[in-house]
Amino acid sequence: MAWHFGRKKMNMPDGLWMRCDECGKTIYKKDVEDSLRVCPECGFHLSIDSAQRIDMTLDPATFQELFADLAPQDPLNFSDREGYKDRLKRYSEMTGLKDAIVTGTGNIEGWKVAFGVLDTRFMMGSLGSVMGEKICRLAELAIRERIPLILVCGSGGARMQEGVVALMQMVKTSEAFAACQDTGVATITILTDPTTGGTTASFATEADVIIAEPGALIGFTGPRVIEETIKQKLPKGFQRSEFMLEHGLVDMVVPRSEMRKILAELIEYLQAEGAPPRAARPEGEESAKPAGELIGPQTEGQRGEVEQQ
Ligand SMILES: [Zn+2]
Repeated sequence: MAWHFGRKKMNMPDGLWMRCDECGKTIYKKDVEDSLRVCPECGFHLSIDSAQRIDMTLDPATFQELFADLAPQDPLNFSDREGYKDRLKRYSEMTGLKDAIVTGTGNIEGWKVAFGVLDTRFMMGSLGSVMGEKICRLAELAIRERIPLILVCGSGGARMQEGVVALMQMVKTSEAFAACQDTGVATITILTDPTTGGTTASFATEADVIIAEPGALIGFTGPRVIEETIKQKLPKGFQRSEFMLEHGLVDMVVPRSEMRKILAELIEYLQAEGAPPRAARPEGEESAKPAGELIGPQTEGQRGEVEQQ
């Protein structure tokens, strides 16, 4: 075969092949899409966008988006290499989103849930004023309707372009999760690769049940910075889901293919008093395979631009 598997793609038909972020192997895109974007070579759970996550987690055609009109302001008139307003515009055009979270309601095997997904394509899923507000509104809705609050996390941390306003969202979202817990409404977070910074230090790790996808990087500061600071080599698998499970930060590591089934079991177990009854489950559904065809996001360069702390 005349392929050259170097750093750059050579003679590779556009759109047919992609590189795994974890093992670096070149993999057939269709195989990846057919397996919920899990690498067929190493089993790594590749990043997916919010629309794909909604498709693979919720019952078909049950998602109703809420609070979609909220868009970030630029309270600090912030500029580094690029003005914050321009950056927001660029990411918005690239993703079709106004900010890094999509929120709404939907069903999981018939159970109604308040559901939010952070989208790492939008400024690395960073936590700013809009994400904070949307999570709070979602929590209020969950309490009002007595339905579980489920958030899929993937984030580089607090959005530095919003300064202290972003940091305040850690308090605000923590309060929202506490309010759910005070009123008996279940909270579940799903930590995906990567979940770091202020997101990990607030709502992502404050749920009743904290689930992680296999192999996800979960931590506050990245391993390289820690190594440089403490001048020590870190143990193998440090800050990955399995390590975090062993050390008590997460409750379960669940592969993508089993996520919907496990969520449904948890919801049934954790139902709040006065919760709405379970709706009919989608007919003929045997697995968590999404109804529509998955179209892979732009993975190349996705990890390159880390703009948060
Ligand atoms: Zn791989």
